[in-house]
Parts: sequence; structure tokens; C-alpha cells
Amino acid sequence: MKEFDFIKSITPKTLKQPGIIKGIGDDAAILRYPYEDMIVTVDTMVESVHFSKKTTSPFHIGYRSLAANISDIAAMGGKPAAYLVSIIIPKDWEDKSLNEIYKGMSQLAKEFHMDLIGGDTVDGKQLAVSITVFGTVPRDKARYRNTARDGDIVFVTGTLGGSACGLHVLLNKPACRYRKFQRVINKHQMPAPRVDFIQACQSLDRMALNDVSDGIANEANEIAEASNKVLYLEYDKIPYKKELLHFSEEQQIEWKLSGGEDFEIVGTIAEKDWTTLKEKAKQTNTNVTAIGKVINDPNKNASVWLKKDGKRHVLQKSGYTHLRR
Ligand code: ADP
Ligand code: MG
Repeated sequence: MKEFDFIKSITPKTLKQPGIIKGIGDDAAILRYPYEDMIVTVDTMVESVHFSKKTTSPFHIGYRSLAANISDIAAMGGKPAAYLVSIIIPKDWEDKSLNEIYKGMSQLAKEFHMDLIGGDTVDGKQLAVSITVFGTVPRDKARYRNTARDGDIVFVTGTLGGSACGLHVLLNKPACRYRKFQRVINKHQMPAPRVDFIQACQSLDRMALNDVSDGIANEANEIAEASNKVLYLEYDKIPYKKELLHFSEEQQIEWKLSGGEDFEIVGTIAEKDWTTLKEKAKQTNTNVTAIGKVINDPNKNASVWLKKDGKRHVLQKSGYTHLRR
């Protein structure tokens, strides 16, 4: 397919977002959102670094790449609106597979009423998909990592470790056993960004948020550092899917603490707002679990502690590796 035909084939016929003045078709897109703050984020996935053709179909490459970006918008307290796709395509990629990547993105985009507003197409040795997403948030209502306060409850949405477990199954198990692990495979291939839940929480005056793209050990530390606080988490409270129980304890620990790409939200919230947060979770069909607290400990620097088997361990960003020592 010629580039012109390709672009034509992926150009949306109608736009959903009233704030888009110009989408695909000129030198650049134009957005107008005079009453809101804009959130912008970019994420790049490269074949054989972030996914392999063996475990990820073109459809899922598109789906996951966009999901990762939407998750960042959610973690800022925003709603996604539009996206641009820069794609490097190897010569041996077929048109059909290329279209499948776009189908994966557009399925998710439809769910969130987002518009594809542009991109770039170049030839290269390895497939790479870089997506830029624009989102909006009411003025001064963005959620930052640096707003955790002493006494806050630390919570997480959904379950952790499922995506890493799903990937492991895809890499190591014969196809005949996939059915038993379908939920964690789905978690890996089609993660669900938590936009609706975070939107529902807009009336709550303070939440420190981070999305779980590199494991809770890493993301909790980012909140602790940005807020200059001490977080105290309990291993036994970390929610996970029972499929993980088919694997060694060591493996489970690794996946729950350091497994990447669950795209859940970890956050902290004042204890007085906890009941409201739980209500918002229920309204949006979201499971939310309290996994710890922000504690007032003047003798400690910003850090994350994990209670496991009755002992307290420092939880480093790298999480799992350190815990074994
Ligand atoms: P220019 O040469 O002015 O950069 P292009 O020919 O690269 O324009 O692109 C024409 C239009 O198609 C632009 O609106 C651009 O954003 C869009 N476009 C190009 N490649 C892609 C792509 N891979 N995905 C989505 N939109 C694209
Ligand atoms: Mg161009």
C-alpha cells in the first residue's frame, strides 16, 4: 500500500471530540480547549524490547501501546481526548498486520471517545510504535505524585502481577493450557486503564496518584520520593489473581512487586475520604484495596517499607531483588 492510501485508510470519518479543530490531513493538527488544562504524554514500544511477535499480535501491539498512554493520563487525573501515532515499519510487514495495529488502537480509542489526529510513517529495521496522547483535566485539578500526607491510606486498583504472569504463560506454556490462564493473558494483552474510576473521584480534594507500569515497588517509591514521605505497605494485602498461585512463591513475589504493565493505579488518600473513594469504586465497577499507610516517622527519609512474614523490609524500587537478600 502507498503511504497516501495507508493514511487515507486510517483517517477517521468523523471526530468525536469537539475540541479538535483539525485532525489528519494537513501539516499538523489543531486542538482548542480554552477552559481546561491539557495533559500530554508519549510512550514508545519497540519490537523485541517491549514485545515480541511471538506473544503479541499486531492488534494487541496497538491496543497495549495506546493503553499505556491512557493510563498515564488517568494517573494525572485526566480524560484522554486525542492521539498521534508515529510508526516505524519494517519492509516485510504486511498491510494487513499494519491495519491490525490500528484496529487495536481504535477499539480502545472508541471506548474512551478519543480521536486519531495525526502521526508519521517511516521505514526502518524494527517495528516501533510511538504514541502521543492528549488529555484534559479541569483547571488546576491535575493529580500529582507529591501530594501524599501523613496518615493517608495507600490503595491500589484491580490486581497486581497479572500482566507479568500472563506474559510468562504466553512464553512458556503450550497453547492447550491457555484457557486456564485466559484472565491473566487478557491482563497482559488488553490492559484496562482506570480512567472512569479516577474521573469519578474528581470531587475528592486530594489524591496522590501513579500508574503501575513498572511494578508497585517502583511506583510506591516514586510517590514516597515526590511527597518526601514514608509509605508502609503490607505484602499480604496486595491483591492478585488466583492464577498466580500455580507458580512458585518467589515468582509470585516478583510479579506482585515488580511485574510490569498492570496499568493499575496506586494512590494515597486522606482516611476521611476513604468511604467516598470506595463508593466511587463501586459505581465504576472497580476493585480498590487498601494496602498500607503513609506514616509519620521523622527518623526516616522518604522510603517504602514492606511488611512480610512479620518482618519489615525496605522496599527498593527494584523491589524483589532486594527483598531476597
Ligand atoms: P507531512 O509531510 O506534512 O508531515 P504526512 O504526509 O507525513 O504530512 O502526513 C499527512 C497527514 O497524515 C498528517 O495529518 C499526518 O499527521 C497524518 N499521518 C501520517 N502518518 C500517520 C500515521 N502513521 N498515523 C496517523 N496519521 C498519520
Ligand atoms: Mg510527515
